[in-house]
Amino acid sequence: MTRSYSSYAAQGPSQPILPYSLPRRRQPRSHLHRAVVPRLRSDRAASTSSSSSSLEICRRRRCFRFFPSSSTAAVLQEVLPGLLEAGRRRSNPGGGRRALPASASRRWSSFVPILGPPLMLEKDRIAYFYDGDVGNVYFGPNHPMKPHRLCMAHHLVLSYELHKKMEIYRPHKAYPTELAQFHSADYVEFLHRITPDTQHLYANELPRYNLGEDCPVFDNLFEFCQIYAGGTLDAARRLNHKTCDIAINWAGGLHHAKKGEASGFCYINDLVLGILELLKYHARVLYIDIDVHHGDGVEEAFYFTDRVMTVSFHKYGDLFFPATGDIKDIGEREGKYYAINIPLKDGIDDSSFTRLFKTIIAKVVETYLPGAIVLQCGADSLARDRLGCFNLSIEGHAECVKFVKKFNIPLLVTGGGGYTKENVARCWAVETGVLLDTELPNEIPDNEYIEYFGPDYTLKVPNLNMDNLNSKSYLSSIKVQVMENLRAIQHAPSVQMQEVPPDFYIPDFDEDELDLDERIDQHTQDKQIHRDDEYYEGDNDNDHEDGGR
Ligand SMILES: [Zn+2]
Repeated sequence: MTRSYSSYAAQGPSQPILPYSLPRRRQPRSHLHRAVVPRLRSDRAASTSSSSSSLEICRRRRCFRFFPSSSTAAVLQEVLPGLLEAGRRRSNPGGGRRALPASASRRWSSFVPILGPPLMLEKDRIAYFYDGDVGNVYFGPNHPMKPHRLCMAHHLVLSYELHKKMEIYRPHKAYPTELAQFHSADYVEFLHRITPDTQHLYANELPRYNLGEDCPVFDNLFEFCQIYAGGTLDAARRLNHKTCDIAINWAGGLHHAKKGEASGFCYINDLVLGILELLKYHARVLYIDIDVHHGDGVEEAFYFTDRVMTVSFHKYGDLFFPATGDIKDIGEREGKYYAINIPLKDGIDDSSFTRLFKTIIAKVVETYLPGAIVLQCGADSLARDRLGCFNLSIEGHAECVKFVKKFNIPLLVTGGGGYTKENVARCWAVETGVLLDTELPNEIPDNEYIEYFGPDYTLKVPNLNMDNLNSKSYLSSIKVQVMENLRAIQHAPSVQMQEVPPDFYIPDFDEDELDLDERIDQHTQDKQIHRDDEYYEGDNDNDHEDGGR
């Protein structure tokens, strides 16, 4: 039984039955669990040693890419004219709804919204990904994870009219092959195959993939994974192509999932997939995690590389899930000093947390010079969370988001944990406002889920009257240790030339083999429509399919 469950369960509206269970085992620091990330070398000249032909492609694409060998260049040269042609078709200054010409194959139609020339409109700068279907899945009656919180957060965003200040996209559903860029193919295939009705047939295999209590098999599980992972992948690709400065996917941030197994309510690790996507364009990616739990899945994936620096602020001790994230865990091999863990105790408050956060993150950014930042905003670090044990207000949590935004580095923002769902919705709505430089009035406007926000119907989450077990000397010792480790990094590493896979991998299939429903499903239609039509504008809000549980 974890401390989080036994100590704090009584605060929730009902008794949770399922805590995060104790870790089944400590993950071995084996290469088998890593993401495949090309090494960096600390020689800055490496990044300028590209052949002229590949640089030419870079210029034509108007983006900075790390590639390639001559064979990759040849492939890209063959492919690029098709992409550029598709991009020209995409460019439609008159705007309005316009389907792709029939001659544009399905294969390329999937590329078009992403690879079109950057539209330099101001409203392009923030991209927000949401699909109401992600909020309709149900982990089970006693499970603390309630995806319905995503619908609530989205409707708060709409009620504050934040949708008018950013671009709203329905993410594509990630293909199994995209998920397998990090996860093992057999695990992805198993997630695809398993259903509540058939799981009894696979009773022997469920433990191998850690499916069961914490990570149950429920209806539409795979589609749920496809949507939240698709959102983070789309967000990363938009950032790579500079069609936005900040991309938001509150459905993402499932930081515990491992290469070959589920963990801590997480099945597919969208953060690892998103970071791998960003690494195609950026030499260094910084991952910051303010969930109350250690960001173990992301840390583990990049533990041996210096191309990703992971920084996790979390509760540590008392066997709190996942029981990893000691300050002594700093990365290994090329990744030594590129994993940072800030272990905290119960009851940390706004001033202690934000002071430590700002000091460490400022030094990290100054030292590491990331090309992109991924910020996991798990809301279980808020006071009154059903599983958490920190004492942050929404203002304190959002202050961290505001601080990271100020660096003006391409930023991918995701959700994460958060088990008191009305506070999760409040938090992510406020943070959407922060990213849009918009302060939200405290009184919540009327919306579909307004009854959840009573009796005050305000955005405030008061702090608890609880002790902060993090003494000044303890926090100071953490800061000193982290700064010392950062000094070991002489300078930001640069990238070694290497082959990179293309942005998308869309499997080949014969369109004629699909039945009509599959050919023109909602997502396909969405892909073929200009994004102007995906705004949620006043009465045209087409998100009425959200149910609620
Ligand atoms: Zn968490």
